[in-house]
Amino acid sequence: MVPARLVPWAIVAGALVFTVGVAAYVVHTSRERDLARFANAVESASDLIGRRLDVYLSTLRGGAALYAATDTVSPEAFRAYVERLDLQRRYPGIQGIGWSQRISVEPERHAIRYLEPLDARNQAALDYDMYSEPTRRAAMARARDQGEPALSGKVRLVQEIYGPEQAGFLLYVPVFRDGTVPNGIAERREQLEGFVYGAFRADDMFDGIFGSETPRVSIHVYDGLEPDPDALLHASSAATRESPDYETSRTLLVSGRPWTVTFTSTSSFEASSPGIIPWAFLMSGLAASLWLFFLARGQARARAAAETANRAKSTFLATMSHELRTPLNAIAGYVDLLVLEIPGSLNDQQRQFIEKIRRAQQHLLGLINDVLNFAKLEAGRVEVERRPFPIARIVDEARALVESQIAARDLAFVRDGGPDATAMGDPEKVRQIVLNLLSNAIKFTEPGGRVVARWSAGDDHVCLEISDTGIGISEEDRDTIFDPFIQVDADLTRTRHGTGLGLSISRQLARTMDGDLTVESTPGEGSTFRLSLPRWRDHDPAA
Ligand code: ADP
Repeated sequence: MVPARLVPWAIVAGALVFTVGVAAYVVHTSRERDLARFANAVESASDLIGRRLDVYLSTLRGGAALYAATDTVSPEAFRAYVERLDLQRRYPGIQGIGWSQRISVEPERHAIRYLEPLDARNQAALDYDMYSEPTRRAAMARARDQGEPALSGKVRLVQEIYGPEQAGFLLYVPVFRDGTVPNGIAERREQLEGFVYGAFRADDMFDGIFGSETPRVSIHVYDGLEPDPDALLHASSAATRESPDYETSRTLLVSGRPWTVTFTSTSSFEASSPGIIPWAFLMSGLAASLWLFFLARGQARARAAAETANRAKSTFLATMSHELRTPLNAIAGYVDLLVLEIPGSLNDQQRQFIEKIRRAQQHLLGLINDVLNFAKLEAGRVEVERRPFPIARIVDEARALVESQIAARDLAFVRDGGPDATAMGDPEKVRQIVLNLLSNAIKFTEPGGRVVARWSAGDDHVCLEISDTGIGISEEDRDTIFDPFIQVDADLTRTRHGTGLGLSISRQLARTMDGDLTVESTPGEGSTFRLSLPRWRDHDPAA
């Protein structure tokens, strides 16, 4: 058990642990969700790039196919093919599709023959020998030797004649004599006719791929295996953050050439994560914890104050009772001296008066003893023993003490129980309870009635019932008679002396011994008080 003064702290600690736990959980799950969102964005961006380049490649292969069908392709046929593709609209980023013809083998020289659509930029490239430039040459040679499409490294397109420049690259599809790819490298070198190729302006192409929507991840595409700034092909327009929450990079292989694509989360990506929510939760949790703390502390203080007041009351009762008993005992002593006629002989009237004094003194002493007992119990200053004792003995002892009252009221007493029901507890206290129950039974039963003491041992309890054929107790009074200072009928009890403390004390004592005291009653027929106590067994270790 947590000590009472620590309860508010325990509450605030519990609330804090809960708040922090939930906030951490929200942060954790939202982080996982963001990670998944980010991975998703990366996946779909890589996918888009790969798919778009595949489409470009198919358009170039289509162009190359023209050359497979016939020896020479007329400029009109080439233009018609490219026009059908509707490049500007459907394939943004392709600056042009061209035909670069090999014009000499030794030394190898090429010239751009066709380049469609033939706008001002493309016009500037006609007749250019791409083989004379190392980056283009490397890709052309690879396409030629392997008989496969080949992508070039980063170049400055010859078409960049005006406006802001963009990085460019070229994709070559080799065309061989007879329209098929020869088997050996030597044969391919020998039979190469030229290339159908695409010239790309990188920014236009990537903007075309990703459209105009604000990207949630910022994308940088580099030619090669490293994110080398000199090899940057394209940087997406989204503002790149100094230290993004998420970043990753991928290598894409495009027609035999690697591209490094880096992805970083943008501020718009991070703004859509729950960010402030866990903190808001944390703050409100802290506020709630504080409120709970002050509430609990207020209650704890009020409880402590009430307990102090109660203890003060009990101490007062105990002290007062003690102070009252001393003079009462002195009165008893002097009454005894008078009755023994030690100071001198008494006449009849004096003897009667003294007898009344003695009864009043005894009554007062009984009341004060009750109050004292009650106060001690309330103050928790009553110690109970725990030892085995037979219930039968206690009943007999108590009965002996009330024998004269039973006889005086002309009651029958029935004793019903065996000698072997052994209870565990404090026999002194149990006798006090039984005496109280018997006195009440006698007090509240009219002459000629009957009082029964019946006991038996159950599985783990011993049960003693004191029943009478007296006036009984109404249902609403059955709960309150165990409260201190409660007497059902004050007028009636005035003739039957009492404080209203007996049952309250008895029940508290029974409960202190891990037992209980309850009542059943039918008004006008009688009452049965049931005292239960822990049962003692031979093997009981407490014994
Ligand atoms: P006291 O007997 O000193 O008044 P108790 O606490 O022992 O105080 O009893 C409280 C009240 O319960 C009694 O005043 C009486 O009204 C009722 N009571 C107790 N025992 C019986 C009984 N056997 N029959 C009827 N009423 C009873």
